[in-house]
Amino acid sequence: MDIRKLVKPNVRTLKAYKAEEIACKVKLDANESPYGFTVLKNVKTNKYPDPEARDLRKLVAKDLRVKPENILHGNGSDELIYNLIATFGGPVLYPTPSFTMYGIIAQALGEKHAGITLDAKFDLNMRDMRTALKKIKPKLIFLSSPNNPTGNSFSADRMTQIMKQFRGLVIVDEAYQQFSSRKSFITLLKKNTHLVVLRTLSKVGLAGLRTGFMIAHEDIIQEVNKVRLPFNVNALSQKVAIDSMKNKTKLRSNIRSIISERKRLFAELKKLEGIRPYPSDANFILFQVRDGDRVFRDLLKEGVLIRNMKGVADGFLRVTVGTPGENNFFIKKLKQVL
Ligand code: PMP
Repeated sequence: MDIRKLVKPNVRTLKAYKAEEIACKVKLDANESPYGFTVLKNVKTNKYPDPEARDLRKLVAKDLRVKPENILHGNGSDELIYNLIATFGGPVLYPTPSFTMYGIIAQALGEKHAGITLDAKFDLNMRDMRTALKKIKPKLIFLSSPNNPTGNSFSADRMTQIMKQFRGLVIVDEAYQQFSSRKSFITLLKKNTHLVVLRTLSKVGLAGLRTGFMIAHEDIIQEVNKVRLPFNVNALSQKVAIDSMKNKTKLRSNIRSIISERKRLFAELKKLEGIRPYPSDANFILFQVRDGDRVFRDLLKEGVLIRNMKGVADGFLRVTVGTPGENNFFIKKLKQVL
């Protein structure tokens, strides 16, 4: 039996998101934090986790100065993107290059989707966005700001314009907000009932827990909550997330280290001939290099894994900011392979 024949056509033609396991000495390809937490608490493994993640949501609500009713928890923010599209359907609109899961999930769910190319400064192309709003009539717009993989934040003014002109939901994905000096869109939630903000703990040392949050008007939260699987965030993740989030000193100092290393890494990259790094508000740096494929391969031979953006942004490579030692190793090997 050809199992492919049973699969929905939209899933059949879909390419799965690749999270490859490649052996290396220094792993700087996935925008993870190099700093982890060593926390162990008693969790009753025989009991289901709190389906509402009440304690965790309460803590996040306090941190973000919103009410727990305005927060929905996800098994990573990936899952919330999935739940949003499952709830509202498409068409789904997003800029490109951006986080590839918006398109992958939309297609997996059989929804129409379209990517609108960013302008030369990697900012939103307003003329093309306006045309798309009229032509495609999207239900959902995903704006990753700071944007993965370009690293920049979109102009707040342009994002606000889209919010004003658009009657569907605007989802501002703030996965990298902690590394940015720009203001979060969370403060705009009260006046914009069709705004949704996504956050994650993945980039601040807790990627292994799979914990993300959606912050929005209660009506939106209630609808999306209908498609959420009941025990989507496991007990261990809830407990460890709470304990880690209470350790604000460590969280903040880790973020500060990444930001200061990002500055240093950017300056180092800028010094290299043939390398064009782009300023970043996130925990990674995108750079352009001649013969990116070869540089990527040669770095890997030296034990350094970064991300080849081929297919998403041809000729670009993306490096995650690591510890000072990891960053030095990367720079040393990059100089060597150049
Ligand atoms: N949004 C963006 C823009 C991302 O880059 C990522 C992670 N690569 C995510 C969402 C997903 O994060 P997580 O599912 O780990 O919370």
